[in-house]
Amino acid sequence: MLGLDDGGDASTWGRLRAIQLDALGRRAALLFGLHVVAVMLTLPAFVPWQRVLWASTVLAGTGAVAWRRRRMSDRIENEASRRDIAGAVIDSLAIALLWTFPFLAAARGHVLPASPDLWLAGLALTLGSALILAPVPLAGVTFVVVVAAAMALALLTAQMHLAAAATVMVAGLLTYLTLALGHALVARHLTQAALDERNETVSLLLRDFDEQGSDWLWEIDAARRIVHASERFAAACRLPAETMTNLPFLQVLAGPTWEAGNFAAGLRQLAEKLKQREGFRDLTLPIVLDGEERWWEIAARPRYDANGVFLGFRGVASDVTEQRASADKINRMARFDTLTGLPNRLHVNEALSRALTDAERWRSRCAFMMIDLDRFKAVNDTLGHPIGDRLLGRVSERLSQMMSENELIGRLGGDEFAVVVRDASDPQRVERLARTIIDTLSRPYEVDQHTLLIGASVGVATSPRDGRTAETLIRSADLALYRSKDRGGGVFHAYEPQLHADAEERRVLELELRQALERGELALHYQPVVDAGSGNLRGFEALLRWNHPRLGPIGPNRFVGIAEETRLISPIGEWVARTACEEAARWPGDLRVAVNVSPEQLTNPNFVTVIASALAQSRLPAQRLELEVTEGVFMREGTGATRVLEQVLDLGVRLSLDDFGTGFSSLGYLSRTRFSSIKIDRSFVVSAAQGVAEPLAIIRAVVALARSLGMMTTAEGVETEAELALVRELGCTAIQGYYFGRPLPVDDTRDLIRRNLGKARAA
Ligand code: C2E
Ligand code: MG
Ligand code: MG
Repeated sequence: MLGLDDGGDASTWGRLRAIQLDALGRRAALLFGLHVVAVMLTLPAFVPWQRVLWASTVLAGTGAVAWRRRRMSDRIENEASRRDIAGAVIDSLAIALLWTFPFLAAARGHVLPASPDLWLAGLALTLGSALILAPVPLAGVTFVVVVAAAMALALLTAQMHLAAAATVMVAGLLTYLTLALGHALVARHLTQAALDERNETVSLLLRDFDEQGSDWLWEIDAARRIVHASERFAAACRLPAETMTNLPFLQVLAGPTWEAGNFAAGLRQLAEKLKQREGFRDLTLPIVLDGEERWWEIAARPRYDANGVFLGFRGVASDVTEQRASADKINRMARFDTLTGLPNRLHVNEALSRALTDAERWRSRCAFMMIDLDRFKAVNDTLGHPIGDRLLGRVSERLSQMMSENELIGRLGGDEFAVVVRDASDPQRVERLARTIIDTLSRPYEVDQHTLLIGASVGVATSPRDGRTAETLIRSADLALYRSKDRGGGVFHAYEPQLHADAEERRVLELELRQALERGELALHYQPVVDAGSGNLRGFEALLRWNHPRLGPIGPNRFVGIAEETRLISPIGEWVARTACEEAARWPGDLRVAVNVSPEQLTNPNFVTVIASALAQSRLPAQRLELEVTEGVFMREGTGATRVLEQVLDLGVRLSLDDFGTGFSSLGYLSRTRFSSIKIDRSFVVSAAQGVAEPLAIIRAVVALARSLGMMTTAEGVETEAELALVRELGCTAIQGYYFGRPLPVDDTRDLIRRNLGKARAA
């Protein structure tokens, strides 16, 4: 502050000194004025001829100093040296020495010591100089000390001790005042300098940003008009920068829509934010420039001055049109199925949600249709995935062609498709669409020289009856589809609440079935199989029973399917095989036991081991065990089921084809595996007995073929005398049915065998 230090940052001190000298220079006139007043006050103390001399000397001296100070402050640019400060101190010392003259003269009695004006002048001078010279405190202090010393000396010589002491004290106070003022000045300037510097840096950075960045800055005033638009901002707006200042910001952004008044949503949002004086960021809005639509992302903050007065906004903006385009593409890819190009599950879900909202608003109905291809898996498994994929492509084409404005078709995954019917107020129309879909998809396809025949099953749910949300509606449609599948496919089912109840029951059964084995709730019943000619007992078919403590007896038709789906069929099937073998081993002679095996069990390679071990543990001869499989086994090529069958046959076990006539009834299957018998399903037997020509002809053909291959034919479900007569006449070799006996519990079975033995012995 005293201007003597140069340590640390020299340029800071240099700048500080310049500020000090500059302030001093600006007070030069004041300094001169002070001395004029002081000279006038001292004049009475002089004799007339001295007055001119004195006045002219002091005024010339102070005038010269004032002029020098003034010049100095003009000359100084940014920095001042210690010598410059020293110059100021010397100047002030020179004038101070000049001023010692009247007081020293008074002490020697040359002037009038008692003149109060002289002392008043001294006081005014020291006080004034202390204040005026404060920017360079050393100059001020020098002046005060020198002049006060002369005054004190004069007073001492005049024996005015008290006044001398007072003078010294005042001088001390003034010294302190000068230093304090000087310090305040320096401190204020330092803060200001720091602030200026920061502003300069910020504006430099901003300029840099505006010139090089991909973004640009903009600024508007409280009336939302553009404040000096930068070049980049102007270029982005495709307008000359000079014409932009004072234009309404929103008008520039809105382009042609400004006149029309139909702003984009993003622009309306921006206008709202500006009106509310709210800061915002990441606001994306469409901008029309020269007829081309661009997307800008902008952010801004409101500006206030120190008094909290709103000044407007300052912000950044960038063009995000390209980023948006690629985001759109990604979005599109995420919403469409790559294989078929149809909307995917996500897209379908969204469309359904929209359709639901619309339907609710217009108090109408919308529908959700789920489509599952029948026998698609067989195509995939036998001909491979590339053909399966191509087939899916064909299916999508046919589906797309059937859709109108009112529907959206999508692929949910695998061989599952879905249709969102936006307006389903006419249920008959929906039903017609479902039937058309089934018919169209069931027509043959030609893919790579293969003629492929598949079918389709459809389930439909309609809002709001079957569900008010996308989730519940999908679930309902799924249940309806499940029902269609359950009925063998190729059909359409609408959701009904019973389906939900069934699904619930399935869920409960599934939970209970998991524990049925451990709790010993499962049992086997045995149904006699007799020789068609003699009526002699040939053996029994083991049929599974579930006695649930709370739900009562549950038939296999209700739970075997669940066991297959939940893979519980493996442990249950193993238990059935072991139990049946144990039981059959206790039967006399060559009575056989037939065990039903579901296709699911054959996918487990362990199956052979299980059968071998069941035979070994029960010591039942292998040829007394017969495994019953259905045509379903051959629908799963690729799963290795037929290989497993071959291995079981190698154990010496017999194999029969169950439920012939319910599936494809293809005689071709018979030649694939070494079956020892074919079981003709009850439905065939019944309709043949009623005289329906086709089943009758088929049974005849099967019997003839079986005979020529050395196989047996068992007629299932013979209940009446007439049916018995017919199947005997047709040439079936064995018969099973209520006519001869229902499935019996173990004890009753044993009784029956005993009685039968007795009869045989008696005969
Ligand atoms: P399935 O193998 O065709 O068994 C014959 C079914 O016809 C049995 O029904 C039997 O009770 C019934 N039946 C026999 N004679 C007559 C008759 O004269 N009239 C009528 N109306 N029905 C008759 P059940 O016991 O309800 O078994 C149904 C199906 O459950 C079986 O059909 C079989 O496919 C399956 N199943 C039974 N036990 C097992 C098992 O242990 N494992 C596997 N995987 N499936 C089994
Ligand atoms: Mg069976
Ligand atoms: Mg059967």
